[in-house]
Amino acid sequence: MTTIAVEKTPTQPQALLPVLGAELQAPLVQGGELRYVNLDYAASSPALASVADYLNEILPFYASVHRGAGYASQISTSVYENSRNVVRSFVGGRPDDTVIFTRNTTDALNLLARCLPAQGDVLYLDIEHHANLLPWQQLPHRSVLAGESIASTLEILEKELQLGSVSLLAVTGASNVTGEVLPVAELAALAHRYGARIVVDAAQLVPHRRVDIAAADIDYLAFSGHKLYAPFGSGVLVGRPDWLDAGVPLLFGGGAVKEVRLDSVSWAEGPARHEGGSPNVLGAATLAKATEVIASLDQDEWQQHEQQLRDALIEGLQGIPGVTVHRLFNDSESYSDSGSIGVVNFSVSGYDSGLVAAYLSAEFAVGVRDGRFCAHPLLRRLGLPTGSLRASFGLGSRFADVERLIAGVNKLIAEGP
Ligand code: PLP
Repeated sequence: MTTIAVEKTPTQPQALLPVLGAELQAPLVQGGELRYVNLDYAASSPALASVADYLNEILPFYASVHRGAGYASQISTSVYENSRNVVRSFVGGRPDDTVIFTRNTTDALNLLARCLPAQGDVLYLDIEHHANLLPWQQLPHRSVLAGESIASTLEILEKELQLGSVSLLAVTGASNVTGEVLPVAELAALAHRYGARIVVDAAQLVPHRRVDIAAADIDYLAFSGHKLYAPFGSGVLVGRPDWLDAGVPLLFGGGAVKEVRLDSVSWAEGPARHEGGSPNVLGAATLAKATEVIASLDQDEWQQHEQQLRDALIEGLQGIPGVTVHRLFNDSESYSDSGSIGVVNFSVSGYDSGLVAAYLSAEFAVGVRDGRFCAHPLLRRLGLPTGSLRASFGLGSRFADVERLIAGVNKLIAEGP
């Protein structure tokens, strides 16, 4: 019997889950069109097909929640309140954690900023997205520069915490610029050792990694639906109830109150206090649906899919003369519990990033982000004051997407724009 030797080919990742827009055709400048390649998941990820199906399913019951005895209103109210529990379980929330639906991460962090106790400073690093920097900048605060490694950054934070009077450490779970993941459990332990609480900006973390706030002892977590395969308009703040129940609401209006008199108000407690106005029931429900789908993913398969795409992209880009891949820490791949998500930051020597992004879009139908990524201090620290390029991917991404980007940059370098 003859055995046929089968040559092993490296696996080429395909989409892990179907997403909307995957077959969109984009027009090209030189004529014709190509399947649009979305490498801008970190800005907003495409909706999962299953989330879109769910939206259609619940759309007929669209009604104002908490405000009517009618059948549709009852269904909407129960969908909305159930979404809260689904989200709590997705992030491993404690039973008494408050789950507040907001418009997005920015809203959630601003809301928390309203609720901080009068005493103490907020401590943050220079690597944050503006949403996790500007709300704290308006309060008593201390800011420090991150080190060259995660290990040295922890030491820098510890020195600052040792000085005392920090009430809150605000930190990102994963950088929206470089994709590097921070050790949130270790950061939480550090903050607690010095009597501070921690808020994790998980806008980029939860679309790529499982998070368990009870296990990691995280006090507050914020994220956005539109970066988590659900439509725009919904976000979440999850966390300890005491500060949230004591804070003045960010929005004054119906639903947030216990009792209103002509010249005074007593605010409700729990999530209602911070959800003034008619809630975005479809936003909350689709966000919750996305979390359910993501929670059901096989962890190893999920991580492997992303890692293979990331490795292929970095290897391809680094093989092109004049291309530099930017990183923040020199130990993020080796630091325990760290690593990187599906975000790769790079620049092309001699070319303005905006021009490269426009070229990739017009000639190769590849969508990447260019600019300063709402992280001006970090871009300055990376020596990129005018910006760089960011390719980001996720569940709907395939090897062919990454190949197309590499081909585009190669052609630009070889032939010019
Ligand atoms: N935090 C990080 C790390 C982000 O990447 C973003 C968005 O890019 C935000 C916060 C703000 O998210 P949103 O615009 O949904 O409020």
